Amino acid sequence: MSQASRARRFMASITNPLLLKHGLSLWYPRSGSLDRVPLQNSSVRFSCFRRSFVAASSDFANDNREFVIVGGGNAAGYAARTFVEHGMADGRLCIVSKEAHAPYERPALTKGYLFPLDKKPARLPGFHTCVGSGGERQTPDWYKEKGIEMHYEDPVTRIDARKQTLTTQSGKLIKYGSLIIATGCTASRFPDKIGGNLPGVHYIRDVADADSLISSLEKAKKVVVVGGGYIGMEVAAAAVGWNLDTTIIFPEKHLLQRLFTPSLAQRYEKLYQDNGVKFMKDASIKTLEAGSDGRVCAVKLGDGSTVEADTVVIGIGAKPAVGPFETVGLNTSVGGIQVDGQFRTSTPGIFAIGDVAAFPLKVYLWNSLNENLPLQISLFIFVCNNQMYDRIARVEHVDHARRSAEHCVKALLSSQTHIYDYLPYFYSRVFEYEGSPRKIWWQFFGDNVGEAIEIGKFDPKIATFWVDSGKLKGILVESGNPEEFQLLPKLARSQPPIDKAELQNASSVEEALEIARSSLLVESTA
Ligand SMILES: Cc1cc2nc3c(=O)[nH]c(=O)nc-3n(C[C@H](O)[C@H](O)[C@H](O)COP(=O)(O)OP(=O)(O)OC[C@H]3O[C@@H](n4cnc5c(N)ncnc54)[C@H](O)[C@@H]3O)c2cc1C
Repeated sequence: MSQASRARRFMASITNPLLLKHGLSLWYPRSGSLDRVPLQNSSVRFSCFRRSFVAASSDFANDNREFVIVGGGNAAGYAARTFVEHGMADGRLCIVSKEAHAPYERPALTKGYLFPLDKKPARLPGFHTCVGSGGERQTPDWYKEKGIEMHYEDPVTRIDARKQTLTTQSGKLIKYGSLIIATGCTASRFPDKIGGNLPGVHYIRDVADADSLISSLEKAKKVVVVGGGYIGMEVAAAAVGWNLDTTIIFPEKHLLQRLFTPSLAQRYEKLYQDNGVKFMKDASIKTLEAGSDGRVCAVKLGDGSTVEADTVVIGIGAKPAVGPFETVGLNTSVGGIQVDGQFRTSTPGIFAIGDVAAFPLKVYLWNSLNENLPLQISLFIFVCNNQMYDRIARVEHVDHARRSAEHCVKALLSSQTHIYDYLPYFYSRVFEYEGSPRKIWWQFFGDNVGEAIEIGKFDPKIATFWVDSGKLKGILVESGNPEEFQLLPKLARSQPPIDKAELQNASSVEEALEIARSSLLVESTA
């Protein structure tokens, strides 16, 4: 075995225990598969940043040809803002989108958008990007004012990377100098043959999907939500707000299994039950049954039992929308389009951001290198094969969509060279409609590895601290105040050594966070 192979195996052996179990779709080299991973699978050429574009021609449907973004979602909205901030949007930037709306904050679709109609549901233009991070609300007029050319409801179906052109569904030919792919994901669906496309069966990815669900909810009596992850939890919370008989069905042992501990899940499940939600865990779906009117009328489970339903919402995950861009270079393990730490694909002048991008996750890399390796080995690996120890991830979360967009555009337009340094962050907010007996808002930062220490009684606060090898690796806090929530990323990034016994003895979430804060201070003065 070559020295490089041995080094790869060694890196894999120290990074494997860092496997994240939560909302990341992750891939990183495992010892058994390392030698089979072709180098180009996870490498991108660090060549050209921007590409030039050909002068005006009437063959092209767009006037703004220097920069083109495909996909008008969360990442596209934040990218557009960054172009504007650099004075590079007016007359230069064009966005080609499948949707009929200017970019908006997609998470709203299963939160405020689904509030009962008499409880002030969120509607566009209220949640266009970039309001989710406290920024300006970029309405369609904003794009006009900033000189950004928008093509709505016309998905890109083909790319010719040599000619630097795109073809849209309606037959438009779009010219680009530099191209940013921000096509996000599409909801995973149940196959037709088991009733996945019956009327009354819903998937939620965009405003049109949410509107269609709302029109079902208006008439619904019995709702079944399939999936115990984010989407399932949020839709079920919304459905009981409409006073509908609501059942969540999922194959795992408890809610949000990839992040919540069993004990934490129990608290949330109890709250859902108090709100009227029923659970069917450890259950698989066999078929969705149609009634005599052709609409869904029941869900048949693997054990032969049946649950009546006039509305079924499927929240079983999503797939990267690589569509026509497969030739740009896919990651075969996590899916999506392979990029480097500046969001460059292997095709010069083409970038990918947001949900669709498979990028090197840096934060744990450096921690593991610093902790575990003699410097010579770190340097040897770094020099020999820069990408071998990166953990390649695709992150389907809005924080990453925003940050990757900003990072990519800055790298494209300026001399910024630093590598994207993402800290995994997840949140959810439910039961927030007017009159709800209890609102839920939790945030999680870091890595849910090692021993989980739970503090608090869920009254309303509760926190879980994940401690691994004496270090604080991840923290989830429910109902924190702004100051507490701001502390979490600092802790998760620093991963300070922490006294487990002291933490376990904390009598409240506030006290536990204070212990964590002090370990941060101790570390910074050490
Ligand atoms: C219902 C829902 C709730 C969510 N809740 C949360 C949450 O609470 N917290 C959180 O962190 N994250 C949440 N997310 C995830 C978050 O919204 C995504 O991570 C984020 O939207 C990704 O941004 P994006 O721009 O990469 O993709 P998107 O926002 O999905 O945008 C992609 C856009 O590209 C368009 N498109 C696709 N293919 C083409 C094509 N060929 N041509 C042109 N346009 C195309 C799509 O129609 C879409 O408009 C949620 C997602 C959904 C669907």
